[in-house]
This record gives sequence, C-alpha cells and structure tokens, in this order.
Amino acid sequence: MNIHEYQAKAVLKEFGVPVSRGVAVFSADEAEKAANELGGPLWVVKSQIHAGGRGKGKFKEAAAGEKGGVRLAKSVDEVKTFVSQMLGNTLVTIQTGPAGKQVNRIYIEDGSDIEKEFYLSLLVDRATSRVSFVVSTEGGMDIEEVAHNTPEKIVSFSVDPATGIMPHHGRTVAKALGLTGDLAKQANTVVAQLYTAFVAKDMEMLEINPLIITTQGQLKALDAKVSFDSNSLYRHPDVVALRDESEEDAKEIEASKYDLAYIALDGTIGCMVNGAGLAMATLDIIKLYGEEPANFLDVGGGASEEKVTAAFKIITSDPNVKGILVNIFGGIMKCDVIARGVIAAVKAVGLQVPLVVRLEGTNVEEGKTIIRESGLNVIPADDLDDAAQKIVNAVKGAR
Ligand code: ADP
Ligand code: MG
Repeated sequence: MNIHEYQAKAVLKEFGVPVSRGVAVFSADEAEKAANELGGPLWVVKSQIHAGGRGKGKFKEAAAGEKGGVRLAKSVDEVKTFVSQMLGNTLVTIQTGPAGKQVNRIYIEDGSDIEKEFYLSLLVDRATSRVSFVVSTEGGMDIEEVAHNTPEKIVSFSVDPATGIMPHHGRTVAKALGLTGDLAKQANTVVAQLYTAFVAKDMEMLEINPLIITTQGQLKALDAKVSFDSNSLYRHPDVVALRDESEEDAKEIEASKYDLAYIALDGTIGCMVNGAGLAMATLDIIKLYGEEPANFLDVGGGASEEKVTAAFKIITSDPNVKGILVNIFGGIMKCDVIARGVIAAVKAVGLQVPLVVRLEGTNVEEGKTIIRESGLNVIPADDLDDAAQKIVNAVKGAR
C-alpha cells in the first residue's frame, strides 16, 4: 500500500527524521492560510499523487501552466496561483504512465536552501532476506539512469536483523556520501531513525530522493516515498487510515474486500485462476498466443461460490475485457464450486464476451456437467494450451 509524500514525512517525523514544516491543502483558500502560517519567504508547492518524477512532470491541461508538479513560490499570491492551476488537473510523470494522475491534494512546504542532493533508500532485499540500504551521491536524478551508466556511484549494503542497525552502518553511509564531522554524525542518527521506522511500520520500500544538506549544514529528507507490506496492514490501523482510495484501481479495492489477489493489467483477456503459479503461467501462455491479459487474479485455494461470483463481476466490469479465461486446477478448491460460481455470476451480470473454461482436478466431472447443463454459451477446453488458443482465437475472431 502506498501513501502520499506529506503522510510519509509525518510518519518519519514521529521517528525523529528531519523534514521541512508543511501543510496539506485541498483548495486555494486553504493554501493561502497555510502559506501565511508557514511565513515564507520561500514556499514549495508540491502535487500529491502516488507517483514520483513530479518535478519533471507535465500537466495535460494548458490551464495548469508550463511548470511541473513541484514549484517554488516567492509570495503567498504565487502559492495561491500555483495551487489553483494544479488542483483537479492531470499530472503526467515517468511513473504515472501516459494517462497521468489527477492532483487532488497539494503539500505546501517551507523552501530549503539546498547545498547538495543525495539518494537514499531502504528496501527488502529478497536475495539476502534482509533490509538493504541503497545510497548515492547522485540524488535528485533518475536513480535507474545512475545505476545503468555509473553503477560505481551506488553503494548498497544490508543490515543483519540479529544485530539491527549499528554505528558502522551510519559510517558506511557517511563515507559513501562524503560526509565528515557533524554531518557524519547527523547521517548516523538519520540512518538509525530510518531503519527503526522501516521495521516498526512494516515498510516495503522507503525512498528519500533527495536527502539534502542545507546551506546551514543540516541533513534533511526533502522527499519521501513509502510503501507498506499489505500483509502487515492488520496490525497497523494507523497506516490503513492513510489510505487514499482515489489513487487506487477501483477493481483492486473491490477485490481486496473479498480477499482476492487481483492486479489490473492493460490487455483484453480477463483471467480467473487459482494459485499464483498457475495464474502466472496463464498470463504467459496468453501472451505466447499473441494477446495480452487484462488482469492477474488468484481466487485462492479455498474460494467459496460467493468469492468466485465477486471475482467474475470484477473481471466483467473492466470495459477492456474482450474475452474471459477461467483456468482452475481443483485441489482443495473443487471444480463444481467454481462451475456453480461461474454460472451464478454469468446469470447475475450477463455475458457479453466469449468465455473459455478449463477445469481439471477434484470433482472435474461434476464441474463440467454443471457447465454443460447450464445452457450457457461457454467454450470448454481440455488443457492450458487448448484453453489459451481458444480464448485468443475467440477474441481475435470478434475483432
Ligand atoms: P519528485 O521526486 O516527485 O520530482 P521531489 O519532492 O523530489 O519530487 O521534488 C523535486 C525537486 O524539487 C527536488 O529534487 C528538489 O530539488 C526540489 N524541492 C523539493 N522540495 C523542496 C523544498 N522543500 N525546498 C526546496 N526545494 C525543494
Ligand atoms: Mg524526489
């Protein structure tokens, strides 16, 4: 689960991480009040969307002006103008994709005098099963580009969970960033605070880009991007409260209510599969035969008829779906339950597109009989290969 920059900074502040003062606003009037409270003389007006690259981003609407999603303002009037220009308009950045994201909240922050910009992030490294730090002197830029062109400028190390964060980790960061004296001490403190926050809140990723040195010699997190491990949310009601559903895919939110593992994709073939491995294989084989999947959906091992019905409704609510492939290997999950769920869903929402069903495993004969006797226009398939070819041909034929 992702949160906005201003929320991430509030979380980090609880752990002592130095951030700028700021106020989140939803209107130009609120912005004026916030700007007066902050006092200036320099303000930064920052679009809040769940995507990075805002500074270099561009608004789709001409009314939003030529500047990007992060703007420096030198007066309260200028703050107000920028906020009115940005609110309600669509910001396109390298991370949003071409559709962009609508800006509905804006963070007004004290402007900092920047001496240097660094990159620092923490993430769960699957290779070592540990929390890793990634640090670079080349902050503010596209870190992927740095990794590609000048990999020697990136320093990475992981933290042993048995010892936790240690002073030598702080020294490694200070050395990588070329910091000495008081700044090295500050780096040591910030590194420990960030690690503590990361672990305490079950974060998946924490990216500070840029981490800056101000001209006054202070280390500060000027941007913050945080995502949390969704599996841990049950123990963090304070984090759940930060959720902004307008930033998420409506179908994914609906799926999460039924505990379905659903990810929206860009293609045309809706998939209902049990088991993540089989779901991945199904996406692969659809692509192999020349079409693109519209979603990843794992209905899980013990799905009920109700869950299957909900899953089917979510798939058919996507206007891009031109065909549906149900691919179930009955183990704990029984084929007759799936068949009944599919029939119930088709009766409830109708079927405007071709539907291929491939069932195998526990109670497969009952399942097939239920589908055959339903009188619905379902194309049966015998195996994964056959099923994929049939749905791809049906979708291509309908074009
Ligand atoms: P994004 O990464 O989405 O582009 P950032 O928050 O990193 O957004 O802002 C982009 C750039 O704007 C930063 O690299 C920094 O140079 C400048 N900036 C951001 N916040 C401030 C601030 N409070 N004071 C001064 N400059 C800022
Ligand atoms: Mg940034």
